[in-house]
Amino acid sequence: MPLLAMRLAAPSILVDLQHVPNLSDIEDRGDHIRIGARVTHREIERSALLADRLPILSAAASHIAHPQIRSRGTFGGSTAHADPSGEWPTILLALSATMQAVGPHGNRTIEADDFFVGPFTSTLRDDEILTHVSIPTTRTAWSFQEAAVKKGDYGLALIAATGTPRGGVLVDPRVTVGAAVGSVTRLVAVERILTDEPLTDELAEEAAVAAAESVKPISDIHGSSDYRRKLVASLVRRAVVELKNGA
Ligand SMILES: Cc1cc2nc3c(=O)[nH]c(=O)nc-3n(C[C@H](O)[C@H](O)[C@H](O)COP(=O)(O)OP(=O)(O)OC[C@H]3O[C@@H](n4cnc5c(N)ncnc54)[C@H](O)[C@@H]3O)c2cc1C
Repeated sequence: MPLLAMRLAAPSILVDLQHVPNLSDIEDRGDHIRIGARVTHREIERSALLADRLPILSAAASHIAHPQIRSRGTFGGSTAHADPSGEWPTILLALSATMQAVGPHGNRTIEADDFFVGPFTSTLRDDEILTHVSIPTTRTAWSFQEAAVKKGDYGLALIAATGTPRGGVLVDPRVTVGAAVGSVTRLVAVERILTDEPLTDELAEEAAVAAAESVKPISDIHGSSDYRRKLVASLVRRAVVELKNGA
């Protein structure tokens, strides 16, 4: 709808998914949670199942715009839209989620790593729709950090960090950045620093420096590239400290 309102898109046909069945559930499938494309941000925010099993989603939902937008905007629409400033793309990449798509040639699953490929660009084909997103529940260590002018505004920088805690260290950490960059991206240099290392304040500082050195921030009327670089470093530091306290 924002693209239509800004005259950036003028499709000759609009397909309304409101009445397509089986796209509105949040299901516990044991080692993963499956969320239908038509589930709204508000339903995610209020889900007791998600608060228990994937609390990073509950925590992030409250940052998405305002209650009116959250009541109408959908998890699938936001994911397919692949807005680099969107909370869900940043978080789904950090959670190693898998997207399920369907089209005239059948079903397809797409790993988050292969899904978000550019600003507002995913690898969904023109004749496919996203039906569900599956999210593993094993990444129980998490942190979500957002810097915005005020809560509900699009963020200037988003950081999501997740991993599986084992024996005092994080196994397979994933750290992603959104909003400060043109396309949601993993901070691989930061992930390397966190892998299998005891989380300490010194490691948080090292991770912040690596984030500042490796991120390629955008510059616009809301903030310069340098400002966003500092924000990213600061949010990464906070995320690692939060992981340390929660892991
Ligand atoms: C004022 C305002 C503030 C906002 N603030 C934020 C914010 O802070 N953070 C944030 O993350 N978002 C924000 N949004 C976006 C909002 O959260 C919506 O999720 C987003 O606009 C998508 O809306 P929708 O779910 O109705 O999808 P639509 O607008 O219907 O669709 C978005 C795009 O995805 C495609 N699409 C939709 N569903 C599917 C599907 N199942 N399969 C394939 N393609 C599909 C559509 O064709 C379209 O190209 C904001 C929006 C507004 C208007």
